[in-house]
Amino acid sequence: MAARSKLAAVVTAAGLCLASAAAAAEADRFVVIGTGGVTGVYFPAGGAICRLVNREIDTLHLRCAVESTGGSVANVDALRDGDISFGVVQSDVQYDAVKGTGPFADKDAFDGLRSVFSLHAEPFTVVARADAGIATFDDLKGKRVNIGNPGSGQRSTMEVVMAAKGWAVSDLGEVSELPAADQATALCDGTIDAMVYVVGHPSGAVQSATADCDSVLVPVEGPEIAKLIADHPYYREAVIPGGTYRGNDADVATFGVGAALLTTESEDDETVYQLVRTVFENFDEFRKLHPALAHLDKNEMVSAALTAPLHPGAERYYREAGLMR
Ligand code: GLU
Repeated sequence: MAARSKLAAVVTAAGLCLASAAAAAEADRFVVIGTGGVTGVYFPAGGAICRLVNREIDTLHLRCAVESTGGSVANVDALRDGDISFGVVQSDVQYDAVKGTGPFADKDAFDGLRSVFSLHAEPFTVVARADAGIATFDDLKGKRVNIGNPGSGQRSTMEVVMAAKGWAVSDLGEVSELPAADQATALCDGTIDAMVYVVGHPSGAVQSATADCDSVLVPVEGPEIAKLIADHPYYREAVIPGGTYRGNDADVATFGVGAALLTTESEDDETVYQLVRTVFENFDEFRKLHPALAHLDKNEMVSAALTAPLHPGAERYYREAGLMR
């Protein structure tokens, strides 16, 4: 036990240091889940998964840790480079990774990407300062907008929306690329007029943005959005329920994607099987670990919003559990 704690300390201190990971492998197998900003939902969702896995450390010898990352695109790149074992990824970014399009247009199709299960819905969420005069997406023209850091999913989806609208970056007044966790502060400080986040609800970031100053959720709809939904299987209509955030009592219509946990073909079957089993066998508890996970449904998780082929370790569990035939 003492040796294990010491290893954990080394691993925690060194983060992704490969030497530490190799040392940990002698005692326990070590897996890292790439997530997103700490005030998003990926980070606590990854934490919920790891919590259930780590509880069985004595029998599984599997140690799970989460890493805060730039988001979906960064997670796909880290999976491709072998820097993380698992990563949470938006369904549109997942599709682009499998096809070698969008943010991965200069890379090969990622044939080794594998699905584990899908997670929560992520509405495309625009939050504006109440005093900025932004009531619709089109009002963002000429305003100071945080379009997201380049490794994030929101940046990728925002670029799709802007292309659908025929906008160039110059149509916005000023563009920033702040990481997700810094957006709410920038909004309430008045450094930006609006932020864009593709995120489950409730999220810490939108909670701060609406609690620390007066901010409004902005609807994202119209013919261009309807066409995006019609043309792409991974986009769908979405609603951010009224009352989720302070000062925003009405439902807000937008479109959205789904989040999924992904891995690669090189991850071993037993590790993936055990991770899936711990989540699905403790499902009620898992759903309570974050309010954005509360509505998850096992049958949807094994089928919806997954583009990459299922990892065989996950498939083994789903067949055993009668979730797949
Ligand atoms: N969807 C965001 C992204 O892919 C992350 C959201 C979150 O961290 O919950 O970058």
